[in-house]
Amino acid sequence: MIYKKSGEEIALMRRGGAILVDTLNRLEEALLPGITTGELDAIAERSITAQGAKPSFKGYRGFPASICTSPNHVIVHGIPGPVMLEEGDIVSLDVGVLYGGMHVDSAWTFPVGQVDPAKAALLKASEAALEGAIARCRPGARLGDVGHAVEVVAEAAGFSVVREYVGHGVGRSLHEDPQIPNYGPPGRREVLGAGMTLAIEPMINAGGAATRALDDGWTVVTADGAPSAHFEHTVAILTEGHEVLTSRTHARPPVALGAS
Ligand code: MG
Ligand code: MG
Repeated sequence: MIYKKSGEEIALMRRGGAILVDTLNRLEEALLPGITTGELDAIAERSITAQGAKPSFKGYRGFPASICTSPNHVIVHGIPGPVMLEEGDIVSLDVGVLYGGMHVDSAWTFPVGQVDPAKAALLKASEAALEGAIARCRPGARLGDVGHAVEVVAEAAGFSVVREYVGHGVGRSLHEDPQIPNYGPPGRREVLGAGMTLAIEPMINAGGAATRALDDGWTVVTADGAPSAHFEHTVAILTEGHEVLTSRTHARPPVALGAS
């Protein structure tokens, strides 16, 4: 069942989204060659908790960290730890924030230093695929329109779309109905309506679409070892159009966290 949110609930998610974006900005600033994914996790946890929120992922089905860190051929759900990021890597940082009882969810794949043109093209196309999907979000559109937009943009750029992992409703829980595949025909599935809040999250592979889950129970990698990118926004459907609750482009004053 799809929960439509009240204006008050969306306002809480907007505030949580600002905390999430502030956290992603801090991570981007810290993301220099030599940093470990565990260090990034610590920065994120401190940023989220110091702003009166909780990391949605910590303890979720036993997940041991506050964010997911997925470098290079890791698609999603990488566990932060001693892995050191190097010049030329890419890394997806996936952040969930629980604020005022409401969750928001957003991910961004960043270059570490200078990356080669193939990785840069993958990042550009994957972000464009997310933007294309969000552009379809308005009352009366169909969920199939959203996934189809991802597929069209990613495949036109010569990349492949992960099929086993999908976007989702978000808000009162981290994962709610509906599931949001990043592929499929337009004009099908649920009709979008005001108050729906959706985590749209294309996962785009430079090589084939096939995935493989590692023995740690979380990490998902590309079967062929080629790089993968992941971009995610939480989007509210409004009476007219939509609002990206985790937009990274809004000007925001930095939040002072105080002494550690
Ligand atoms: Mg996420
Ligand atoms: Mg998500």
